[in-house]
Amino acid sequence: MLDATRAPKYQLITYGCQMNKNDSERIGGLLSALGFVETASEREADLIILNTCSVRQSAEERIYGKMKDYIRLKKDKPELIIAVTGCMAGRDKDGELRKRLAPVDLYFPTPQMVELPKWIAGLRPDLANSADLVEDYLKIMPRRVPSAQAFVTIQIGCNKFCTYCVVPYARGLEQNRPVADILAEVRDLAAHGVVEVTLLGQTVNSFKAKDPESFSSQNPYKDAFAALLWEVNTIEGVQRIHWTAPHPISMTDEVIDALALPKQVNYLHLPVQSGSTKVLFQMNRKYTRENFLNIIKKVTAKRPGIALGTDIIVGFSGETEAQFEETVSLYRTCDFDISYTAQYSPRSGTLGVKLYQDDVSREEKKRRWQVLQTLMRNMAKRKNQAYIGKTVSVLVDKVENGFAYGNSREMKLTRFSSTDVSFVGKIVDVVVEQALEWQLIGKMVL
Ligand code: SF4
Repeated sequence: MLDATRAPKYQLITYGCQMNKNDSERIGGLLSALGFVETASEREADLIILNTCSVRQSAEERIYGKMKDYIRLKKDKPELIIAVTGCMAGRDKDGELRKRLAPVDLYFPTPQMVELPKWIAGLRPDLANSADLVEDYLKIMPRRVPSAQAFVTIQIGCNKFCTYCVVPYARGLEQNRPVADILAEVRDLAAHGVVEVTLLGQTVNSFKAKDPESFSSQNPYKDAFAALLWEVNTIEGVQRIHWTAPHPISMTDEVIDALALPKQVNYLHLPVQSGSTKVLFQMNRKYTRENFLNIIKKVTAKRPGIALGTDIIVGFSGETEAQFEETVSLYRTCDFDISYTAQYSPRSGTLGVKLYQDDVSREEKKRRWQVLQTLMRNMAKRKNQAYIGKTVSVLVDKVENGFAYGNSREMKLTRFSSTDVSFVGKIVDVVVEQALEWQLIGKMVL
């Protein structure tokens, strides 16, 4: 390790989803191993890395927007290295996006981060040594900020090819990590004080075990994802297990059964995208409205009172007013607690652009989005009010200005009066006295 005062510095800016955040933790781990230290200042940095998201055009526009600043920066400091990775670099098969990133020196899909030491050494031999090479990026130990919560990637890529989505192009086809590696990482996290783990994958519940022999002989499940959940449940120190994002077609009866495992949080985020079977078909989601409603019925039968979240896209190509209303009615029927709703944005290279015309106007998409937002907010408030008088179990993640904050097992932000920072990282019981749209407020049970 180099002396931190003379060590090379990197700035890492992350956009998008939890997968990207976890990938950035790996980039941080790799750079730390090379002796780099992180800086928040782009002026101080020797290396700036943007870990990009392509889910919407606006996410890519933000990256283009930064290029002017970097051209200026490089005028003052020509030896500065600018790198772009993540979904933009992954999906840019014909190099069209790269053309708008003139000041960028390194441009690579996420799994190629293993080459970073070699590339940095090529550009700046004073900063790195090309001998520091790793083979598989998932073997790089993520550099995590000490916390009671951690994300663990169990799978990368996706085979589903939803017609609106760039992920299979940007991140490649589904690949699953060995069970033994995942369990070793979770055990290590638990030994370092992590009490809540979130298992990450693009379609996390389609996980397949490369090494089923790593499951213990008492494991009751045949479905690899359910079996993995069962194993993680047995790890001492882990108190809460969360996973995202599942695909409805992989919600097998065993995965639904595993929702009742003792450490499973009382929350399921299950993306539906649309309530219309016709739109779901055009999206290539591979299930119908009825299939989805049936899954929700089974889930709530298995775990009554579970909080439910979803993702929805409004204004997909050809979506009629009646089809949108089917989404509204499905939202009510499922009694969701929260939705992440997006207005459809066509992405070049996807089947959605090749097969269909983006024929719902921008104003209409916005109106439909607003209708769902209003519905969600009203339902969220009503659902939260049902917690008044009940006790929720809260993992405290910060204490500031006289209040402690954390999520309940239903993933509801909860606040109670406290100035005691020693609660951070602990799980405490809170009696709910008041409920807002997005927050439960209560008193800690002593
Ligand atoms: S399941 Fe569909 S939406 Fe999710 S990552 Fe795969 S292609 Fe994209």
